[in-house]
Amino acid sequence: MVTINPDHPDPGDVKRAGEILKKGGLVAFPTETVYGLGGNALDPSASRKIYAAKGRPSDNPLIVHIADLSMIGPITEEFPEKAKTAAGKFWPGPLTMILKKSGLVPMETTGGLDTVAVRFPSDLTAQALIRAAGGYVAAPSANTSGRPSPTTAAHVAEDLGERIDMILDGGPVNIGLESTIVDFTEDVPVVLRPGYVSLEMLREVLGDVRMDKGLISENSSVRPKAPGMKYRHYAPKADLIIVEGEQEDVVRHISELAAKAEQEGKTAGIIASDESRNRYRTGIVKTMGSRAHEETIAHNLYEILREYDQLDVQVIYSEAFHTPRMGQAIMNRLLKAAGHRVINV
Ligand code: AMP
Ligand code: MG
Repeated sequence: MVTINPDHPDPGDVKRAGEILKKGGLVAFPTETVYGLGGNALDPSASRKIYAAKGRPSDNPLIVHIADLSMIGPITEEFPEKAKTAAGKFWPGPLTMILKKSGLVPMETTGGLDTVAVRFPSDLTAQALIRAAGGYVAAPSANTSGRPSPTTAAHVAEDLGERIDMILDGGPVNIGLESTIVDFTEDVPVVLRPGYVSLEMLREVLGDVRMDKGLISENSSVRPKAPGMKYRHYAPKADLIIVEGEQEDVVRHISELAAKAEQEGKTAGIIASDESRNRYRTGIVKTMGSRAHEETIAHNLYEILREYDQLDVQVIYSEAFHTPRMGQAIMNRLLKAAGHRVINV
């Protein structure tokens, strides 16, 4: 583990990390969304190593990270006008674009697809590392497949410590949820995974934008277009159940459920907000932050799920967090963690 200053990453450290990637090794590094597990995106054996280290199914493609717009050309067949517009508005930043891939990108990196996911992160350490590595770094989240995504270097060490060559520790990440993924291979762009960049923000600059049917459908026979979205991600060890409804009813119902769990000899976790935390009398209560500051909720979600994994709780009841801008992304991750178990009150 190498500690770096996120505003001024030490050039020597970055160079060493870049050399590891050039030689086919793996380096975990911070980005503005979550920590990534990097390997050379153009080297099939590096991509295979990433899948092995994470225990990730090899049909679940990796995102290729770039640090300059000029790097798009060599790895894609075309860069459509709408994608250019989105790049102008949201790059560098938490937006991933699906584009038609060129022959330069190995099938190992794209999970056998003829499209490639590309992102230009805003994090300075990430940018410096990508440049030092030669321009193309494949990086999924740096967690063991199925665990919450890592928002600190300690999370990475916990999951992958011995299995990778280096961890760059730049402190806690900024956003805390993975990037928004948008498919630009069709006329109307399609959101494959919600994130910090919301549907409304995209529509403002691109006009018509759709949500992938596989994301919004209750019916699991509609397959999500991003292969990764079909897996049950972020699963905590305890059963997680979301309770939805008016705030008053939610607090009352969760309190009843937690009390009942205790009578049965179980310990219940309760995921609350700053506004409601003092109203619970039983269970182990953790707050996601204030509903008035939805960034804090996005930022704390994965950390809280990991904290409950360290505690002896058998069941976790969570309030729902349909916040104005990032609510879609937050609820997408929370619902997946809960295996879509929701009680409406
Ligand atoms: P992660 O980097 O772990 O956050 O996961 C990357 C996500 O991007 C997964 O859900 C993948 O299925 C998705 N993805 C990557 N490449 C593609 C692609 N070419 N087409 C559709 N989805 C993709
Ligand atoms: Mg992931």
